[in-house]
Amino acid sequence: MFKSLSPLPPDPLLALIDLHRADPRPRKVDLGVGVYRDERGETPVMQAVKKAEQRLWQEQRTKSYLGPGGDLAFFARLRDLVLGADHPAVVAGRVAGVQTPGGTGALRLAADLVRRSASDARIFVGTPSWPNHVPIMATAGIDCRTHPYFDVAMQSVLVDVMVAALGEGRANDAVLLHGCCHNPAGADLDAQGWARVEKALSARGLVPVIDLAYHGLGDGLEQDLAPARGIAARLPRAILCVSCSKNFALYRDRVGAILVVTESAEEARVVQSVLESAARVLWSMPPDHGAAAARLVLEDEELRAEWRAELDTMRARIAGLRQALAAAGRAAGLKLDAIARQKGMFSTLPLTPAAVEGLRRDHAIYAAPSGRINVAGLTLEDVAPVVEALGRCAGE
Ligand code: PMP
Repeated sequence: MFKSLSPLPPDPLLALIDLHRADPRPRKVDLGVGVYRDERGETPVMQAVKKAEQRLWQEQRTKSYLGPGGDLAFFARLRDLVLGADHPAVVAGRVAGVQTPGGTGALRLAADLVRRSASDARIFVGTPSWPNHVPIMATAGIDCRTHPYFDVAMQSVLVDVMVAALGEGRANDAVLLHGCCHNPAGADLDAQGWARVEKALSARGLVPVIDLAYHGLGDGLEQDLAPARGIAARLPRAILCVSCSKNFALYRDRVGAILVVTESAEEARVVQSVLESAARVLWSMPPDHGAAAARLVLEDEELRAEWRAELDTMRARIAGLRQALAAAGRAAGLKLDAIARQKGMFSTLPLTPAAVEGLRRDHAIYAAPSGRINVAGLTLEDVAPVVEALGRCAGE
């Protein structure tokens, strides 16, 4: 039965983890893996989450099944956090949705929802993007239309190209958008870019699928969420795929949600039933523990304030590293200024695969073959040697 299978190449980023682990050099820098690290190089459990988990351990009386929608109170809290409790769609009862296993689960449900709504719907995806976006959509049977989003050499967003690509859209096609802190570019649409994209969506009846995996790590929680909130307020329909992996540091607990803004409360009820049915056959119900902890954080004013402060510390550390990289680049005559303007954990540098290989071989610096670096993988001490190594390898 399995004889017809051929081995698939390993995920290049996961392969990088093994290489980094096996590297015996004492000073090595991992800019590959997409997790936040603190100044000690650790990815700790957030204090607010730890306290919530303690409470959960004391108070939880059962681990009996919930349902395909997951923890409904978690969902409501997350919806209000992301959209705002006073968002017109929330107030009007026009938001359907369920808890999902991470942002990945939300994206998969989004794909199912789009396909069940319109079997010939396509999805537009700007490149580069998170490498899992296209496979998730394609596996769900959706035709993916890619268009260039970011010019790595120029470090600029190709908004004209994007708007032109969306001009080819048909009613009910979907458009994948990064809500903030683009992965892997770090470069988001500016206010004018968002307005132009929104106009294109509106003109052609396209449905935005907004991926929110890094809110709170760019300019601040409210600022990072503003474009998604605005689009969800002004367009009749929008799908928001939310991950709690980074901003609650709940990575392996698999916490997320899909929020679907619909045209009416009645439509929301129909969409709700479709989401629950789609979830039922994919994973039956999402894992509970991390979502229950996040719910406790969001429900409790003190824990919520502590979480916000911790998130802000993470954001400030990334912003500081971005400034430090750009300044060290200027001193070394390298053009790294764009890094200071970009947001979130990632930037993609114009490095050839040979340069990336040189960084690893000669300097024990691990970056993705695409040139993507995780800024949060640095410590302030690493900045000078990394910039020096970039100077040596950039020409390769
Ligand atoms: N979207 C983007 C842009 C991501 O980078 C990631 C994870 N790295 C996800 C979604 C999915 O996150 P999760 O681990 O919550 O499934």
